[in-house]
Amino acid sequence: MSSELFERCIAEAATVAENVYFHVLGEPTLHPGFGLFLKKLEATPLKLNLTTNGTTIARVSERILECPAMRQVNFSTHAYAELPRETALTHLQDVLDFCKMANAVRPDLYINLRLWNVGDAASRSWNETMLAKVNEAFAETKDSSSDGTQTAPHISLEHFCSRHKSFPLVGRIYLHQDSRFEWPAASSSTERREGGDPSITSTNYSVWIPSGQSPSRMTAAGTCRALDTHVAILHDGRVVACCLDHSGQISLGQIQEQSLAEILDSPMATNLREGFEKHELRHPFCQSCSFCKRFGK
Ligand code: SF4
Repeated sequence: MSSELFERCIAEAATVAENVYFHVLGEPTLHPGFGLFLKKLEATPLKLNLTTNGTTIARVSERILECPAMRQVNFSTHAYAELPRETALTHLQDVLDFCKMANAVRPDLYINLRLWNVGDAASRSWNETMLAKVNEAFAETKDSSSDGTQTAPHISLEHFCSRHKSFPLVGRIYLHQDSRFEWPAASSSTERREGGDPSITSTNYSVWIPSGQSPSRMTAAGTCRALDTHVAILHDGRVVACCLDHSGQISLGQIQEQSLAEILDSPMATNLREGFEKHELRHPFCQSCSFCKRFGK
C-alpha cells in the first residue's frame, strides 16, 4: 500500500471507526513505510491494534512502544509451531522480552499472546513448550500498573475451554487460546450452483458449492460480525467484508473512488449485513468459512 492510499484509508476510517488494525494477511512490520504509517496514524484520533507474528519485534519494539496511537499488540505465536525449534524459541524470547518491556513502560498497552491452534495434535508439542516459557517468564512479574507484585496464574493446556479463552498473565498481557480455523475457500470460475437465484444482491440466497468441495462443508446458515464491527481494506484499496478475504472475493468497492460510508451503505454490503442479522450466509465465500462458527448460531 502506498503512503497516499494509506492516508486516504485512515481518513475514511476515522469517519466510521475508532480503531484500525494493521493486518489481513502478511506481516505489517515488514512494510517499508511502517514507521511512517505510525506517524500518520498519530495525527488522527484513531487507535491501532497491531497483529504481528513477532519475528521482527526486536527491531520495531522501540517504535511501537513510543507510539501513543498503539492500543493493542496481538502476537500470532501459534505460527511458531511451524518453525524449527531453535528459531521458534528465539522468536518467542523476543516476544516475551517485549512483553516485559511493555509492562514496565506502557502498562496501558494490551498484549495478546495468541495460541490459535489448540486441539491441533501437530501443534501440541510447541504449545506445551510455549506455555512452559510463558509461565516461567511471568512467574513473578511486577505489575507496573499497581504497587504490588502480581503473580501470574500457572496456565496449562487443560485450562482451555470454549467459554474460557483468555487468561490474564500480568497487567494487560493475556494469553488467548482458540482452535485453529480453516481459511475460507476462494471461489473459481468452475463453480457449480445449487439452489435458487445465486445473486447475492437478491434478498433470496442460495448455496454455491465450489468445485472440489464437499457439499457437507457448505452451509447457508450462520452469522458473522463483519460489516457490523469491522471491515477490511486491501493493499490496492478494495474494500472487503473481513480480514479473511485477502484475495478480494467479496469486493464491495474501491476506497479511492467512494467514501467508506458509501461503500458500507451499498446494496451489496447491506444485503450481506442483513443476511448476517437473519443468520443467512449470502455469499459463497462466507458459506465456506469456518471462522464464523465462532460466533455461534
Ligand atoms: S462469514 Fe467468514 S468470510 Fe464471511 S465475512 Fe464473516 S469472517 Fe468473512
